[in-house]
Amino acid sequence: MTTDLYCVMGNPVEHSKSPWIHARFAQLTGQKLQYGKRLVPLGGFAQAVREFRAEGGKGCNVTVPFKFESPALATQLTPRAQLAQASNTLRFDGDAVLGDNTDGVGLVNDIRGNAGVDLAGRDLLLAGAGGAAAGVLGPLIEVRPRRIVIANRTLSRAVELIERHAALAQQHGVELAAIEPAQVRGAFDIVINATASSLSGGGIPIPATALKPGALACDLMYGPAAQGFVDWAREHGATPRDGLGMLVEQAAEAFLVWRGVHPPAAQVLAELRATLP
Ligand code: NAP
Repeated sequence: MTTDLYCVMGNPVEHSKSPWIHARFAQLTGQKLQYGKRLVPLGGFAQAVREFRAEGGKGCNVTVPFKFESPALATQLTPRAQLAQASNTLRFDGDAVLGDNTDGVGLVNDIRGNAGVDLAGRDLLLAGAGGAAAGVLGPLIEVRPRRIVIANRTLSRAVELIERHAALAQQHGVELAAIEPAQVRGAFDIVINATASSLSGGGIPIPATALKPGALACDLMYGPAAQGFVDWAREHGATPRDGLGMLVEQAAEAFLVWRGVHPPAAQVLAELRATLP
């Protein structure tokens, strides 16, 4: 049996835990593959993908800042990648390239499966309207919460996101709204921070009044970058959750796309968490 090659491409990429996660998935499922990381120069994404395919690469994950460039390289996009207009997973099948986006299903699987929180019929506040928010909105709609309010500093980006998802929301009976953070009123069952605010020292982009007592408050970041949000959520009576579970679950879905096998994500999440300080 040959060893198939995969990698994650990004800039920066040094910090990525994807090689560890996929190596562990491969071990646990008996799949023969190698998964590396490639630092891709800005402006060099298409060339890096061409080179990796020429070396025999079977697929790659795509991270910041290339997720929006990635769909243009695909000969076929999954509906969820089309809706997100961003792709974090490419699969190479001869001349064909499948572009997918597994971020949203990763978040949904983490909230439902690992945190044990049902999303159906609930009120959700999604902070942010960048690439991560675009990736998660469609899969969140598909699990039929009552409503999703998107709060973003740049209102026009939130409005554009809800316009693009209006038909899907109508199909699933989900109410969508776009507001600025200062306009947040009322309290929510689930609050998701998909902004990069803490990276720029911007603090928590949501008022604490948005948290119902016992609400689930998820940050898509993990590690030290998520600590401020996790502490804030706990101080205000919510149940905090960082983005490590989403990271492992989106990887599990990519592994399924590539290998046709769903790895034991919950086990790998527990192992990964145990390796962190
Ligand atoms: P992005 O496309 O650059 O979008 C950034 C978002 O953050 C925008 O909504 C932006 O608002 C907002 N923002 C930035 N600084 C802010 C501030 N000071 N105050 C308020 N809002 C601010 O980034 P992204 O790709 O969406 O990533 C967002 C986060 O999700 C990143 O930290 C990333 O690490 C994380 N993520 C995690 C996973 C996982 O598997 N756990 C997967 C994907 C992403 P404007 O529109 O107003 O600029």
